[in-house]
Amino acid sequence: MRTAAEHLAAVLDAVGTPAPVPVPLTGALGLVAAEDVRSRVDLPRFDNSAMDGYAVVAASLEGAAPGRPVPLPLMGEVAAGQDPEFVVRPGTAARIMTGARLPDGADAVIPVEETDGAAVGTVSCAAPVASGQFVRRRGEDLAAGSLVVSRGQRLGPRSLALLAASGHAAVPARPRPHVVVLSTGSELVPPGEPLGPGQIHDSNSVMLWAAAVSAGATADVRPAVADTEADLLATLDAALEQADVIVSTGGVSMGAYDVVKAALRDGGVDFVSVAMQPGKPQGFGFRTAAGGRRVPIFALPGNPVSAYVSFEVFVRPALRRLLGLTPECRPVHSAALTAPLRSPEGRRQYARAVVTGDAAGLLAEPVQGQGSHFVADLARANALVVVPEGTTHLAAGAPVDVLLLDEEGGP
Ligand code: AMP
Ligand code: MG
Repeated sequence: MRTAAEHLAAVLDAVGTPAPVPVPLTGALGLVAAEDVRSRVDLPRFDNSAMDGYAVVAASLEGAAPGRPVPLPLMGEVAAGQDPEFVVRPGTAARIMTGARLPDGADAVIPVEETDGAAVGTVSCAAPVASGQFVRRRGEDLAAGSLVVSRGQRLGPRSLALLAASGHAAVPARPRPHVVVLSTGSELVPPGEPLGPGQIHDSNSVMLWAAAVSAGATADVRPAVADTEADLLATLDAALEQADVIVSTGGVSMGAYDVVKAALRDGGVDFVSVAMQPGKPQGFGFRTAAGGRRVPIFALPGNPVSAYVSFEVFVRPALRRLLGLTPECRPVHSAALTAPLRSPEGRRQYARAVVTGDAAGLLAEPVQGQGSHFVADLARANALVVVPEGTTHLAAGAPVDVLLLDEEGGP
């Protein structure tokens, strides 16, 4: 039996981190910049007006006041996007809009509110301006060649805006892996459809789809396959073409119809026992798609809690490794147990709990149903209490490590 840490290390090692590719900005939210990126332009790119008003030579308006307006003949008008071909000389002005390039000669802008707002002829200015006033200087925000995002930086709305402003349509990053979710089990019926005798609704599929998307992947769900090897292999091989990662559930234990194990054991997937609870039977390996592309496959156990914990402990870190997101695992917090907890000897337990708390500290209340079929208690929980392999009993009040399941795992 291998430990959970050993299995995770083997998985992370095997999936690796793919080479970065240019990802269009609108596809890059939440991705990690794989290289430093520098600005291609000065920001602002040219001296421009911060206001709707009039471009002037500041000295022309010395002494201007509400009762003593200074008239300035207009040389022209410049709107955003235009390139003024005239020069503003002392004693003249040009009507100018916010963001428009400052005409040569002008060194300040008087806001329209301080004038009579003339569109043509002569503008009457009722206030002085200082040189440089309401002018946004070329490069005052950022000089061309400056760093705009650093290697390893997670991309959000503001950094994506800066990339766009500085001349980039794409950013070097590792794209989101596409996860295909495949539940197995002849008893499974899609959510919402009528149940016959012995049948249950497939809940793992949507759970793993959501977990994969929450981890930064894209994902889709295939209709659950019956417990026959032929069905499984046909569905799997069709899924390989779209998948960067395949996550299946069910059929990995010792039962007579555990077809995932039977079908894939000699097909590139290793089935191992991991010293953990829940989630002891784990399958992991690769299957080759067209063109020789090797697609990692996680064959998770079918019990909903086992599938969820297995995803959390192995698949999520692997998806983060594929995305270049570090750290791969969620941060570990310390909490005090509110009730005693038993744990099997020699296995790391991931007990479901509700963690509450504030700056004074976290409290972890284990949910009632710790069996791996307790879907309602899984939904109620917001944390996993990690009980080490050597611990079999924890008293109320004992400090424990917890993983907060709704917490972002990275920088
Ligand atoms: P298995 O690992 O296939 O033996 O399944 C273990 C248990 O999990 C059985 O009770 C299954 O009915 C249940 N199970 C398997 N797959 C799913 C699923 N996709 N949704 C809900 N329960 C499932
Ligand atoms: Mg099954």
